Amino acid sequence: METIASRLAQVRRRIADAEVRAGRPAGSVALLAVSKTFGPDAVRLAHAAGQNAFGENYAQEGEAKIAALADLPLSWHFIGPIQSNKTRGLAEHYAWVHSVEREKIARRLSEQRPVRLPALSVCLQVNISGEASKSGVAPDQVPALAAAVAALPGLRLRGLMAIPEAVTDEAEQSRAFASMRRLFEGLQADFPELDTLSMGMSGDLEAAIAEGATLIRVGSAIFGARG
Ligand SMILES: *Cc1c(COP(=O)(O)O)cnc(C)c1O
Repeated sequence: METIASRLAQVRRRIADAEVRAGRPAGSVALLAVSKTFGPDAVRLAHAAGQNAFGENYAQEGEAKIAALADLPLSWHFIGPIQSNKTRGLAEHYAWVHSVEREKIARRLSEQRPVRLPALSVCLQVNISGEASKSGVAPDQVPALAAAVAALPGLRLRGLMAIPEAVTDEAEQSRAFASMRRLFEGLQADFPELDTLSMGMSGDLEAAIAEGATLIRVGSAIFGARG
């Protein structure tokens, strides 16, 4: 029978194999377990199997889950679209936000970050496939947004995030991830402290790791299909 623990073990094996194939050190790719639509019990099972970092997409659902799991030492990452009236909850309850695409949102997150907490780690979401429907800043706007975000005291700019167009062909997956790698390396020339390239999900994590992902966001391969 497939359990959360056994699926998590399979994902860890996929990551380890992809690290070897890419000639990257073991343990160089962090795993974010995307628990959106699954309840606190599923998160508890994943935590019992050794997983500590979890990703959420919807502000309200995430806050309820964080409150229900306050007894566990978990790290919460927000990875969904951000409405400006939801920034306070994100600034107060999360360790990371991966989906910053506008300076106005970044300013609000910085102002609303409680001073008792460390700076909020953020990634800039990039619309790398250039899809009209996708969120994210255009690649040519990344340097200006990075400069603005890096100057905000409540935030710590960590890197870039992308959700490329879903395709099954691995060569096609690699093209978008390779563009992200180039963009990230270019940005590191100005901001050498950047350490995070957040890309790769259940269906394309191998291609992402081959192109330098340092953090992959995996939901269905761990928790099962979303209803
Ligand atoms: C849902 C989601 C994921 C995980 O997707 P799976 O295909 O279930 O692994 C990763 N990143 C973001 C931004 C998501 O919304």
